[in-house]
Amino acid sequence: MKTLYLADWLLPVSSEPLRDGALLVENGTILAIGSRAELFPLYASHAEVVSLGAAVMAPGWVNTHCHLELSALHNQIPCFDHFPDWITRLIELRSQFSDNELRQAARQTAKELARSGCVLVGDITNGLFLEDDKTDSLIERVVFYELLGFNPALAQDIVKEASARVEAENPAALCTPHAPYSTSARLMQLLHEHNRLQSVHLAESPEEVSFLRDGSGPFRSFLKARNIETDAWNAPGASPVAYLDSLGVLDAKTLLVHGVQVEEDDLSRIHVRQASVSICARSNAHMNVGQPPLKEYLKKGIRVSIGTDSLASNDDLDMNNEINYLFNNFSGILPAELIKLATLNGAVALQKEEDYGSLEAGKRARFNVFFSDKPVVRNPEAFIVSKSWSHMKCF
Ligand SMILES: [Zn+2]
Repeated sequence: MKTLYLADWLLPVSSEPLRDGALLVENGTILAIGSRAELFPLYASHAEVVSLGAAVMAPGWVNTHCHLELSALHNQIPCFDHFPDWITRLIELRSQFSDNELRQAARQTAKELARSGCVLVGDITNGLFLEDDKTDSLIERVVFYELLGFNPALAQDIVKEASARVEAENPAALCTPHAPYSTSARLMQLLHEHNRLQSVHLAESPEEVSFLRDGSGPFRSFLKARNIETDAWNAPGASPVAYLDSLGVLDAKTLLVHGVQVEEDDLSRIHVRQASVSICARSNAHMNVGQPPLKEYLKKGIRVSIGTDSLASNDDLDMNNEINYLFNNFSGILPAELIKLATLNGAVALQKEEDYGSLEAGKRARFNVFFSDKPVVRNPEAFIVSKSWSHMKCF
């Protein structure tokens, strides 16, 4: 049975907004989009017609960076002066929860994520939430199995062991490096060879920058405290982005997460290598590490998407709130641009644009409807990002 949804507006994202929009769906797939005037006469007689009224239809949100398995740590870690102190606290706290508690919190949060209109998430796991979880079929996870290891001599074994585990538990999962201060160059290169897509925390804190520049700052003592030997390690003497580039692991299959500590030269490298960036602005604000240069990224033509990061560093994982934060705190970005970052750009970054990210014939009919108390006459994108809607419904 076909269903024809009608609303004041339809935002395909991949093309111009449609006033009095219509969306034709069958078996969870979009058959056609158009205006009411075009589609209603063709399909009204043999489709169920759902008039949504004063509302805007838009593609489901894509959250490109999250750690569902840290959900149990919500509201428990304050901001520290130095970023490594935050990680230390995270590791301590995490060890106080049982695997079962962490898993349960992750599943619960996945459901909340789906309820807030997110249909696809790039989810980092350190191995606990590796399975292809179908508990909540409303959300699709691109699972990144995050690996750490600062000793290059162990890199080969780490990859071998992780690959075997992925093969056994979830072959679709992607082994991925954590960050340059926790993952050896060798391990990053091996993972890059193995992968069609990988995510890496990069250029997040000033401490990461000083560690890579000349080995100074609190990261060295952080590693020492974990019995990780750094005496034989030489600082690359480069920015985080330039360091990745020098290793040959910065390219179109690289999703850089955070990208706060970047300069003009870094922007050029990211652009030339066609890497993409997942910004997590509310997490950055919580950690007090600065904010990503969103305007400069977009000016350069770099593909930016939006992540929430985990509940350990964010109030919630609601993409509506994440976008609203960007709308209120980053000037000069058009609402339509913000919606594209949170939908199509995210789907492309996670290599899932065949199914998600825009409302087009052939893609999955996963969309959000934002309702209004009165007709939405103009600026449907601003209506969404400013949260002027009364309520939303997810399809
Ligand atoms: Zn993260």
